[in-house]
Amino acid sequence: MGSIETPLSTGVRVIVVGAGFAGLTAAIECHRKGHSVLVLESFPQLKLLGDIISFAPNSAKIFQQWPGVDEKLEKIIHKSDGLQYKTWEGEDLFKQEWTASQRALGKSYNGHRGEIHEIVYEHALQLGIDIRLGHKVEDYFESDTEAGVVANGERFTADVVLAADGVRSKGRTMVLGYEDKPKPSGYAIYRAWFDSAELAKDPDTAWMVNNGDKHVIWIGSDVHFIAASVKNGQDFCWVCTHKDDADIEESWEFKAAKADAYKVLHGWDPIVQKILDATPEPLIDWKLVYRDPLPTWISPHRRIALIGDAAHPFLPTSIQGASQAMEDGATIAVCLQKAGPDSVPDALASFELLRYDRVRAAQKTGESTRTMWHQADWDEVRKHPESMSLKREPWLLGHDAAQHAEEHYAETVEALASFPDRRRRQVAAA
Ligand SMILES: Cc1cc2nc3c(=O)[nH]c(=O)nc-3n(C[C@H](O)[C@H](O)[C@H](O)COP(=O)(O)OP(=O)(O)OC[C@H]3O[C@@H](n4cnc5c(N)ncnc54)[C@H](O)[C@@H]3O)c2cc1C
Repeated sequence: MGSIETPLSTGVRVIVVGAGFAGLTAAIECHRKGHSVLVLESFPQLKLLGDIISFAPNSAKIFQQWPGVDEKLEKIIHKSDGLQYKTWEGEDLFKQEWTASQRALGKSYNGHRGEIHEIVYEHALQLGIDIRLGHKVEDYFESDTEAGVVANGERFTADVVLAADGVRSKGRTMVLGYEDKPKPSGYAIYRAWFDSAELAKDPDTAWMVNNGDKHVIWIGSDVHFIAASVKNGQDFCWVCTHKDDADIEESWEFKAAKADAYKVLHGWDPIVQKILDATPEPLIDWKLVYRDPLPTWISPHRRIALIGDAAHPFLPTSIQGASQAMEDGATIAVCLQKAGPDSVPDALASFELLRYDRVRAAQKTGESTRTMWHQADWDEVRKHPESMSLKREPWLLGHDAAQHAEEHYAETVEALASFPDRRRRQVAAA
């Protein structure tokens, strides 16, 4: 475990709104670069919320910069040698093995969102970052010289505000000047996480939880069901993406009865039925929302930036939402360091230009993977089952966001200099 050094101050004051993975990564990376950081989070206390979440190699390398974090994550993450593909009826298609060349892209961390979040949160506290829970930001403001927020009736000011306040972002309304309404994606996900003891007792399901972790996907028409065991088979989780035309109600607290999932999975592999039998009531039903790409992520005075889901929600089939949120944090910390307190607007404009097209390309992988699985031509799939493989592309997974910002910051500022508003859309429109 490396030592934690106190960084030299850059004099840049940063307020981060939201202590999810975007906010905490931005806070930790800004602290590491020497900026002074205040985090305001609306939750009154930390709770182990959520279930399975994935961090691909492009964000794993950010965790690995934080002394002691990899060692802690190592104890709680899913470990398997590949992903087993099956048809909805249980026919084995193939196994996508995590080969040496795929592992060369780096390690992934898949585990319980609440447990991983707690480790990252504790790390931020250990660094001495000022995190204030129970602070719901109600308003944002900015001028040419500063930016700030109002929370619990108190005004907080800084050089820059990073709005990492998730899919229902208030910061987004401030940045855009209008409320961006999410659209239903037409899909929702049943989700569950539970102790695997029941599954271990039944010979039909014991193979998924005995002798290490397993990762299995069943694919049917416009539905897929992914199951994974975690912590050497001790815990078990599954997610089932299905068609849904209900009103948008995106919340981790939204509950569904198992009966709904039985209906969607009627006629599926008996093993899937047994997994459902062993699952405690109720399920989470997470409605997936869709947003058209925002025209910009930064405010008119270039003092407030949206990061993470506030700027760009992801479909889970991209397996990149949390990773891209972390990349945002790593990138903006470098940009602010390069800019210093006198050129914060340049840092924000560069952040947006450095990130925008990459994020869009990453978002599209979620759409293409879902189409590949949900609209499969089964005659073709049986001839070439590997065609269903998750893409493991170096441009996405091999990326080092901080290094990229280090290397391209100067040219990005130069490219932006000839545009009066200096926001990405001006460059794109040129
Ligand atoms: C409780 C919870 C559980 C989740 N569980 C899962 C999961 O199991 N699997 C999965 O893949 N993804 C899950 N997600 C989503 C996932 O964490 C994100 O998609 C991804 O990590 C990007 O993170 P983010 O920091 O941009 O957004 P989020 O993780 O949504 O974080 C946003 C943070 O901002 C805070 N916030 C919002 N508004 C305000 C305000 N006005 N003032 C102050 N703070 C505010 C929120 O309380 C939250 O902590 C969950 C998110 C949350 C909030």
